[in-house]
Formats: sequence, C-alpha cells, structure tokens
Amino acid sequence: MLGVDRTAVLAHPEVRIDAGRAAALAAVVDRRVAGEPIAYIRGFKEFRGLRLAVDPRVLIPRPETELLVDVAIDRTVACLGSVAPSPRSRASQPVRVWDVGTGSGAVAVAIADALRRRRAAGVRILATDSSPGALAVATANVVAHRVAHIVQLRLADLADERGGLENEPLVDMVVGNLPYVPTDEVARLAVAASFEPRLALDGGADGLDLVVRLLSLLPSVLATGGTAVLEIGAGQAEAATNAAAALLPGCFATVHPDLAGIPRVLEVRPMARD
Ligand code: GLN
Repeated sequence: MLGVDRTAVLAHPEVRIDAGRAAALAAVVDRRVAGEPIAYIRGFKEFRGLRLAVDPRVLIPRPETELLVDVAIDRTVACLGSVAPSPRSRASQPVRVWDVGTGSGAVAVAIADALRRRRAAGVRILATDSSPGALAVATANVVAHRVAHIVQLRLADLADERGGLENEPLVDMVVGNLPYVPTDEVARLAVAASFEPRLALDGGADGLDLVVRLLSLLPSVLATGGTAVLEIGAGQAEAATNAAAALLPGCFATVHPDLAGIPRVLEVRPMARD
C-alpha cells in the first residue's frame, strides 16, 4: 500500500505520505470499515505458515482448518509408510489424495508443502472445485508454492457421477472442507462472511448436504483401507457420525476436536471389502 514494510512505518513515524497514497490508504480503511475482511483487502491470508492468495472468489482459510490438514498429513504419511496390501509398487503407484471443494487450494497446497518438506515423495493430490473462479485462485497458489507436480486441479461438482472422478482410479484419501453452515445460519455469520462466496458456506438445511453426499460417494471413490477426513461445524458431530454409520455400515468413524474443543474433523474409514 505505502510501498514500505511495517518496520519502516514504525521506525519512521515522522515520514509524511503524499496525497495519492493518503487517498489509497483512506480507500482501504473505508473497505475495512464496511466490514470487508482484511485478507481480501490485502489479497492474502497466512495458513499453516504459507502465504495464500485470496479474493472474494474463495473462502478465507480458517485456523481450525489447520487441524483438517494435520490429520490429512498424518494419514497420508501413514499410507505412504504402510506395506501396501496389494502387490502394487509404491514407486509406480502413488498415494492418491482427493481434496474436494479446494477453494483457494489451501488444504491441497498445505498438504503438498508439508510432504515436500518431509521429502515424502509419491503422493498425488487431485483438487476439485465446482467454481471456476476458485480454481483460478487455487492455480495461482499451487504455482506460487511450486507444488504443481503434486497438485492437479480440476473443475468438478460433487453432484457429478463419482464427484467428477469418473475416469480416475480409486483414491487412498479424501479430504474436504465442504460448505457446512446451515442455510438459516449463513445470514447470522459475522459480517466478514457476507463477503465470502455463499457457495463455500451454505451446506443446506442442516448444513450437512454436501458432507452426506460425499459420504455416499466413498464406496465408489475410496480404495480399500482408505480414509476420509472432513471438516464439520459446531454441533454437527453426532449427525455426521450417524450419517456415516447409516451410509457406510460397519465403518470406523471418529471426530477430532479443534483447539477450541469444538468437534471439527470427521474421520471415516469404510469397512474393508473382500
Ligand atoms: N468455519 C466456517 C465458518 O464458520 C465455515 C466453513 C465451511 O462451511 N466450510 O464461517
């Protein structure tokens, strides 16, 4: 904005700014006063130590979603380390991760970045979204963080057959921060959320429409022994685990609480098929 960093502003409070910069500063202050999130005004948000581009085409990554990423990384690493039950060789068959509703690409990029830091090769992430605008933002983030060799982006809708994975092999892990706010509650969210895409927030009457749709797809997309980790909202743990039990009889289902103690991540492992 002023072309200098925060340290320069603090170190030289006496510096006067010209009229053009003063006007530009006043304009962003006005946007903030109107309730626009700082992340949209600045054009980026920190997520798991990564600077991610964001704009109103995507949800701003939330700190609680870092838990989703942590669980996903943990399960992916376990999958990499496990002796493959089938004779397939990990060298030629990567561990496949599907990030559903990737938005800004935050989850996919954070997983890819963490695996790269651990030098864990052999993972491919397919990140899908039904919003072309979101995919444009995700593309910028994938490129900026140099994980394009790990993360592939694709326009796809959960309503599509196999959620858009028609011609894809089964995946080893599904991760998703789908919209899960009940429709009636969307209007009651903090004003900042009114600047975010409704598509990324509104999960239908009880908020679980898309989560349930995804659970119903798991038998057709998830490989034997595969895991799904899905972000959910406050008060949804019971309904989400009940839906998992109903749709995937005999599955393992558990919910991980976030740092605020709110049940936040639903982890589901369908029963192994013979
Ligand atoms: N945690 C977000 C909120 O409460 C919702 C994100 C989502 O629906 N995936 O604003």
